[in-house]
Amino acid sequence: MRIAVIGGGLGGIPVAALLQRAGHEVTIYEQALGLERIGAGIHLFPNAGRVLQELGLFDRLAKVGLVPDRMWHRDWDTGKVTFEVRMDKFCELYGAPHLIVHRGDLVEILASALEVGSLVFGKRLTAFEDNGQLVTLSFSDGGIATADIVIGADGINSVIRESLLGVEEPTYTGHVAHRAIFPTARLGDLRIADATKWWADDRYFLAYFLSEKKDEIYFVTGVPETWTNDGFLPVQTDIDALLDAFLGFHPEVQNIIKASIGCMTWPVLYRDPNPLWSRGRIVVLGDACHPMKPHMGQGAAMALEDAVILFRCICHYPEEDVFSAFSLYQSIRYNRTKRVKLESDKHEWMRHGSDAEWVFGYDAVTTPLTDEK
Ligand code: FAD
Repeated sequence: MRIAVIGGGLGGIPVAALLQRAGHEVTIYEQALGLERIGAGIHLFPNAGRVLQELGLFDRLAKVGLVPDRMWHRDWDTGKVTFEVRMDKFCELYGAPHLIVHRGDLVEILASALEVGSLVFGKRLTAFEDNGQLVTLSFSDGGIATADIVIGADGINSVIRESLLGVEEPTYTGHVAHRAIFPTARLGDLRIADATKWWADDRYFLAYFLSEKKDEIYFVTGVPETWTNDGFLPVQTDIDALLDAFLGFHPEVQNIIKASIGCMTWPVLYRDPNPLWSRGRIVVLGDACHPMKPHMGQGAAMALEDAVILFRCICHYPEEDVFSAFSLYQSIRYNRTKRVKLESDKHEWMRHGSDAEWVFGYDAVTTPLTDEK
């Protein structure tokens, strides 16, 4: 089949790579002008690690990222360790390892699994038409393309989602995320653990190294704040205001903030999960159908799992029956993504330990393709 994937993000690239391997002709249309190394890190838990292994990319990612031994959850003020996550036991417990990596490195290495020339930049989808046999796509640069099926992997502001469910702005969660990456040398004599999440009841501070070299540190926060800016684009962080937001936190947190440079503040957005994931020859995955709060570090993992299950469902049916493939895909993925989203909403995950088997032990590569309604 000729397949168009809209969006070259964390769900779009994997599904395209898998479908190409199965012999389909796949093009990814990405609105950005090129690969960007935006300032953010990402945690990929074993359910995501399993997909990266299937793509044959885990070892390369581990070389540029960090496979940590453990992560600490600590009380915001006293620093008391409330739970220690033993990532060195993940392979034994869940069948796959954990990975921390810079998002830019992740996207670059994912993209290396694609056929040369199949990821096309500067292509922002503006409209499309499905005539029942073929989908015609229109882009902001005036370009037109056609495909047998279209996968909308275009994130929280998905144009494909709009076509399924109508225009609707995402909702602001009432929390912002501050994100900064800076050289570890700026911490001076301060020695920190590979990954630590500092918990207060209404906010958190998560800091971790981005690679084995530990020469760069990344932090991301969750802080309640009124969003007064126009639109939902990130803005430069006022570091004094950030220090105020973490007043009374353990000195380690204060010192990491003081050492940072180039911090950006992002509004955290969400939507309720889509009731409809496909229509005709169009289907969606990842944040385009079930964006979630980032508190559990599972959004990208869900997009990666979707990619594998959608790929397997497409291969499971004859080409003329993509409709059954899309329906099976939604029935397998809907309840799991909803359950993870609800858990993430609670914002308690791992604070004092959690039964993680149902999340980390899920293997999208081998789980039976059965309706999970
Ligand atoms: P995206 O990765 O957002 O990709 C969408 C792509 O589509 C983008 O490249 C975009 O440019 C493109 N696009 C959009 N519209 C168009 C268009 N009209 N035409 C063409 N291209 C288009 N998840 C984890 O698993 N672990 C974490 O540690 C983690 N931390 C997070 C921290 C924060 C602060 C936030 C906000 C999220 C975090 N997440 C994390 C969630 C994760 O980032 C997302 O769930 C994941 O990126 C979703 O992947 P996706 O492919 O659906 O969308």
